[in-house]
Amino acid sequence: MALIVHKYGGTSMGSTERIRNVARRVAKWHRAGHQMVVVPSAMSGETNRLLALAKELAPDKPGKSHGRELDALAATGEQASSALLAIALQAEGMDAVSYSGWQVPIKTNDAYTKARIESIDDARIRADLDAGKVVIVTGFQGVDPQGNITTLGRGGSDTSAVAVAAAIKAAECLIYTDVDGVYTTDPRVVPEARRLERVSFEEMLEMASMGSKVLQIRSVEFAGKYKVPLRVLSSFTPWDIDLNEEASSGTLITFEESEEMEQAVVSGIAFNRDEAKISVLGVPDKPGIAFQILGSVADANIEVDVIIQNLSKEGKTDFSFTVHRNDFQKTMDLLKSKVVPALGASDVVGDAKICKVSIVGIGMRSHVGVASRMFKSLSDEGINIQMISTSEIKTSVVIDEKYMELAVRALHREFDLDQPTDTLAA
Ligand code: ADP
Ligand code: ASP
Ligand code: MG
Repeated sequence: MALIVHKYGGTSMGSTERIRNVARRVAKWHRAGHQMVVVPSAMSGETNRLLALAKELAPDKPGKSHGRELDALAATGEQASSALLAIALQAEGMDAVSYSGWQVPIKTNDAYTKARIESIDDARIRADLDAGKVVIVTGFQGVDPQGNITTLGRGGSDTSAVAVAAAIKAAECLIYTDVDGVYTTDPRVVPEARRLERVSFEEMLEMASMGSKVLQIRSVEFAGKYKVPLRVLSSFTPWDIDLNEEASSGTLITFEESEEMEQAVVSGIAFNRDEAKISVLGVPDKPGIAFQILGSVADANIEVDVIIQNLSKEGKTDFSFTVHRNDFQKTMDLLKSKVVPALGASDVVGDAKICKVSIVGIGMRSHVGVASRMFKSLSDEGINIQMISTSEIKTSVVIDEKYMELAVRALHREFDLDQPTDTLAA
């Protein structure tokens, strides 16, 4: 008997029929003797629907100014799906109870729409598990120190599940989704992508942070910090398949790096079209400019990603960086109104139609020339690279958004990630 956390994403919870299948699958695990905690997302489309309603009412002021209410609104999606799952489990003859974030409580900071989990009180969950119940905990939400409802950022139910698994010291956290594991790249963009049996924790961390939305980055960070065994698998297999077969399917995120894993130069390709590029032009080239520009951006709680500073010409330089597209206008406004005049820079220009494509692999530590192979492959396709950033196990480029799919496919081929064509038909 083990303590197991299951997480089900929006598509997996997308209709009453699917919720019934989730209930049956969970009941199967419970009847096999496991203690079960389940973390569901909102039914697919629900979070978008709710946020669109808010935007209709306040088209010009998205984000921070309505943060508290946006979170109270969006959190209802998970509250509904959790209650529905509890009802479905009860209809299957199970003893089940659902809790919202604040009822557990899952305590977070007060950064609305992107709150961070600070602690989870496991007492209520444990008492119910000991009483033989299936416990359902809403994904995506928590409560701040003032008792306000918060949400954890898009895709945040993954993080809820891993954080709950860490808090109750679960034996494993299984992330059920609409693909049957982690692939070499998004299989919806590259049909030739291959499922990985195992992916190292470090690679998963890079892939998630570079845009592979199969797992929210913070869920991988939590898994790493608390050593939570994590597996990504499909919720679309028949609910009554053999439990052992199910338990070993999908992709295991592993802390052990085998030799075989290191032999692959590149394990995966991630891409992200959620970024925008901003350039501050004609900045006087003197000590402190990076701090003056990026310090004020950070003070506004805006995260900066890729950064480059050009060589200076006649004492002036251009300074470029990327931010999340949602923060684009806010960053432009901030720079125009405060930073540009204070620095004596000549202008600020932005481009929201860019994307970032990254190759990731622990094999990059021991193979040389990987980045240049990447650049050559892109150049052969006539794709211009605007920015580059690297770390030990990844290289990212910022390119025009219209070349994204072309770039991902070319790199997938270049690094021998395409599956053999004869297996593609399935
Ligand atoms: P859920 O609602 O279950 O959380 P998401 O839509 O958030 O599901 O994440 C699953 C999706 O992630 C897949 O449908 C797939 O399109 C996308 N994805 C992106 N990169 C990858 C990858 N490397 N491997 C698998 N899926 C990926
Ligand atoms: N429902 C939330 C979202 O759509 C959280 C999640 O699905 O993980 O982002
Ligand atoms: Mg998700």
